[in-house]
Amino acid sequence: RAKDLGKNAYHFYSHDMNRQNTQQFSVQAALRFALERQQLKLVFQPQMNLATGQLSGMECLIRWQHPDMGWISPAEFIPIAEETGMIIPIGHWVLLEACRTAQQWRAAGLLVPKMAVNLSVRQFKPGVLVEQVASVLQETGFPAYLLELEVTESLIMRRINEAVDIMNALKAMGVTLAIDDFGTGYSSLSQLKYLPLDILKIDRSFVEGLPCDHDDMAIAQTIIAMAKKLSLSVVAEGVETAEQMQALHAAGCDTIQGYFYAKPLPAEAMAQMMQRV
Ligand code: C2E
Ligand code: MG
Ligand code: MG
Ligand code: MG
Repeated sequence: RAKDLGKNAYHFYSHDMNRQNTQQFSVQAALRFALERQQLKLVFQPQMNLATGQLSGMECLIRWQHPDMGWISPAEFIPIAEETGMIIPIGHWVLLEACRTAQQWRAAGLLVPKMAVNLSVRQFKPGVLVEQVASVLQETGFPAYLLELEVTESLIMRRINEAVDIMNALKAMGVTLAIDDFGTGYSSLSQLKYLPLDILKIDRSFVEGLPCDHDDMAIAQTIIAMAKKLSLSVVAEGVETAEQMQALHAAGCDTIQGYFYAKPLPAEAMAQMMQRV
């Protein structure tokens, strides 16, 4: 779909730019337009605590509602937003909109659990990110202890020195930090101990084969055991069946997120899952 987005504009810019640049250029323009015209939306995926069976958190996920092409997945446009730099204003919008929405829920008397927001590599900038998070929290009134920031494993390991300083500053503000898609990057496990993390999210690819696939089972169990030794809380992503949930619970996993419990929901449906204070 990202390719289709660029097609219309192709004729106008094709002279000295190569095709890929042209496509990126037009997708970038489309994304800027999308942000201005409020075509970007947030959905919220509930997380369940395995010990209590209760709602214990949620992850905020972006969607693009294109007037002609319908819903476009972030897997298609986030990589282009990252390459073109559009992720900077988009990422800021996500953080602001998420905190604003959650604070409105609180004001309406709902018991709002922790809310996770995804960050991408381009946002992880010294002198920018920490200031941005602080100003969003101040502007919205959403408390830092309810905000969780997710960064992917590969991003952190690519810029580990820079990342540690930024993460320490975020932690000092009271924000919770999670490492996302764990197991898919190329980190050495020993590097994890240098990061001020609170949560480790096991990637969906290891959850998929549970409980039958012995390799996936061994990997999931090992990741959970390691996380526990490092005093990290574990969230398993992409849990679709009761059997997967049971296997994860038996292995000591704390929290699950996935279609088995709930799909990503529009704000109104998410609010209905919360209790009143
Ligand atoms: P992620 O952060 O790992 O998010 C989890 C993805 O798994 C989401 O895909 C979610 O809809 C999907 N998922 C959840 N439960 C299940 C399940 O039971 N089965 C299956 N098959 N999938 C499940 P989504 O929403 O398409 O997002 C894809 C990725 O796009 C996210 O992966 C994240 O890396 C990125 N993304 C989404 N929103 C944002 C954002 O606001 N900022 C940034 N930087 N990246 C974002
Ligand atoms: Mg995530
Ligand atoms: Mg993930
Ligand atoms: Mg994932």
